[in-house]
Amino acid sequence: MKFDSLIIGGGLAGLVCGIRCAQAGLKTGIISRGESGLAFSSGTIDLMGTGQNRESLIDPFKGIEWMLLKNPEHPYGKVGLDNIHQAMSWFQTLSREIELPYAPIAEGKNQHRITALGALRPTYLSPASMVHMPIEGKQTGFHRVAVVNIEGFRDFQPELARHNLRCLAEFQGVEVVSATIKLPSEALGNRDPGTMRSVELSRQLDSDRAISILAEKLKAAIGHADLVLLPSVLSLSNGSERLAQLSELSGYKISELATLPPSLPGLRLSERLQQRFHRLGGLMMSGDKADKGIIEQGKVQSISTHGNNQMALIADHIILASGSFMSGGLVADRNRIRESIFGLDVNTDSDRPQWANQKFLNGKAHAFTGFGVVVDQYMRPRKDNETVENLYCIGSVLGHAQPVEEGSAGGIAISTGWAAAERIIQKAAIQQKTAVQKTSSQEEIHHVR
Ligand SMILES: Cc1cc2nc3c(=O)[nH]c(=O)nc-3n(C[C@H](O)[C@H](O)[C@H](O)COP(=O)(O)OP(=O)(O)OC[C@H]3O[C@@H](n4cnc5c(N)ncnc54)[C@H](O)[C@@H]3O)c2cc1C
Repeated sequence: MKFDSLIIGGGLAGLVCGIRCAQAGLKTGIISRGESGLAFSSGTIDLMGTGQNRESLIDPFKGIEWMLLKNPEHPYGKVGLDNIHQAMSWFQTLSREIELPYAPIAEGKNQHRITALGALRPTYLSPASMVHMPIEGKQTGFHRVAVVNIEGFRDFQPELARHNLRCLAEFQGVEVVSATIKLPSEALGNRDPGTMRSVELSRQLDSDRAISILAEKLKAAIGHADLVLLPSVLSLSNGSERLAQLSELSGYKISELATLPPSLPGLRLSERLQQRFHRLGGLMMSGDKADKGIIEQGKVQSISTHGNNQMALIADHIILASGSFMSGGLVADRNRIRESIFGLDVNTDSDRPQWANQKFLNGKAHAFTGFGVVVDQYMRPRKDNETVENLYCIGSVLGHAQPVEEGSAGGIAISTGWAAAERIIQKAAIQQKTAVQKTSSQEEIHHVR
């Protein structure tokens, strides 16, 4: 099978790149082995959240500029600040098209999101189902906040969240209460919530009847509150709509909190992006795994997959979006780090004891989280020190970033995915123009003869 662009990995980076290529009319395929980081993610998009002194950054773009002075090899350095701006605004437009709108609190400004543990984390774009809080200023503007769980649901601890929120400077003077509501078995499809994860619970609660019962129970349990924090358990496909419905029926401003994985806000984004890719004519090879890529004469010649090993896949442009260690894009052997499909060059420390800090949690990033594929300014990698011309690497398979420490994972995925797609679209246009010119000059020669 022949594609214009073929992407390995269907996480945020792969989907963004696939959608942008398909929008431009390129025949695009995505090979996607399984769930991506989005199933774990809070569902917000972090661009650059933390500064050098671990402070929350108000302006992520300034933060990127400063960071690049020290670390020009960072993936953001390959994309460039103007393109990062463009990529983020393209993503916001896309999010409106897929009816899952993402927005910053103000253009170019980070906001705080509330975590399920009751902490504040800086992020850039949030879905409408989550409350926005400015980073500057120490007041939330709320007087009484209720943290609520559904009795039996084990992946959220409202007491812990309440306790931690009350310790924050931003919540001083705010009354924070917690409550657990018991839903009748009718609303739970006669199932015990203790046996359900967020996705299963959301299926049971995805009806008008269940939402109206939930609204009544909330009103009875909470009394007055100007914000209700609820674990994210409302509808995988329709979350924002169900939340708005609950808000209207109960009269509360409600914000959802992503729980332990599986995280509904991340899965929602993944599902909507996949639908968009499909509608644009993209081919999603879900459940398949790219096993091997043949590189000859500085180019990827073909890709073989586990599910279709009889027929190699061929493409003008290949995009590697296979993620980091967790997704299997990078693998740590006893003494080396390797990229798992092509064996591309990676930046790594040869001294194994230096890969990780002595203490797992000491506030500093482990060196291994910055290991990954090394690329040139067009995001093309090298194998045995030779550039691979038609291969582009995007997202968390890239080295020289510290996404957890920086708070930059989603931004890197979106901006590198978008920038690689733009490069491919440009190259495809040039190839097409050259082909047209060649055909017309051949026709002219034929005519003259
Ligand atoms: C716990 C956790 C919380 C997070 N929270 C946030 C957050 O709050 N905000 C934020 O911005 N980001 C967050 N992230 C990061 C984010 O969700 C993505 O992981 C990140 O953006 C990287 O995306 P990616 O597409 O590069 O890689 P991944 O998300 O890792 O996707 C890679 C995909 O490639 C597939 N793959 C790998 N090898 C192959 C192969 N050989 N063949 C076919 N497919 C293959 C994998 O199955 C996977 O689906 C979080 C991540 C984690 C793990």
